[in-house]
Amino acid sequence: MFRILRGSAIVFIVSILVLIPIRGHAAPILRLGDTGQAVITLQQMLAQTGFSPGPVDGYFGPRTLAALKSFQSTYGLVPDGICGPLTWAALERASEVSRNLGRLRGITIVLDAGHGGKEPGAISPWGDKEKDFTLPITLKTREYLERYGARVILTRYGDYSPGWDWWQPVDELLARVSLANSNAADIFVSIHCNAYPKDPAVSGVMAFYRAGSAESARLAWNLAGPVARTSGLELLGVQEGPYYVLNHTYMPAVLMELGFMTNWHDVSLLRQNWFQDALAQGIVRGILSYFGR
Ligand SMILES: [Zn+2]
Repeated sequence: MFRILRGSAIVFIVSILVLIPIRGHAAPILRLGDTGQAVITLQQMLAQTGFSPGPVDGYFGPRTLAALKSFQSTYGLVPDGICGPLTWAALERASEVSRNLGRLRGITIVLDAGHGGKEPGAISPWGDKEKDFTLPITLKTREYLERYGARVILTRYGDYSPGWDWWQPVDELLARVSLANSNAADIFVSIHCNAYPKDPAVSGVMAFYRAGSAESARLAWNLAGPVARTSGLELLGVQEGPYYVLNHTYMPAVLMELGFMTNWHDVSLLRQNWFQDALAQGIVRGILSYFGR
């Protein structure tokens, strides 16, 4: 009897040691190929600590593996790419630190990559699709914002129409604003590229804000300047815009038009990784200045 009790006591103690709670739940051991909610938690924590795992999609794929290994070696762990108790504990500590130090801690930002899926947006005379520019700019912006400790929600993470995969599929515009409203986002930033077929010489950036919202106007002005500076594009205007995503969101909302799909100079730049990055950095600087951080 005593031996049985002692045996179960050891099992009990071992269980406590192994199951270090992560955010109130026991943390499972995760490896390449795993899927599910725990993988999403892992990906969020990696992103939070500056190790980009690719899309936060609940799939432990090669990008999550690479991010995890690089996290492990940075934090003096065995870089075996397996997320066990020691790695969970280190992630918890590291993401706690970055949450507490980040200049955008406690702030929720919804980034809305324009178009997607069957909706290409504007198409350039050379065949480029607007949706293929808005997504990488949005993903790069997210990466910087998460490094500053912000909670970032995207309306789409790939080339699809937001809302199509919902339990009850909804219209893409409704999906975009619902995500922002239901997550009580602090700001909403929609990312687009402009088109003006009448005059292919027109180039530059514009920022649109919700009519009658002083806070949206302030957000637009804060973003427009830095975006023009980091991209080197001319600032054509900051003005009210009659757009659905601006009129149906409850928080300060802005729609950025980053370059013209009808202008060869802008399109040739939009195709470049460094230029997409410059636009993302401009947006992030603008957000930091809007929040006074
Ligand atoms: Zn657009």
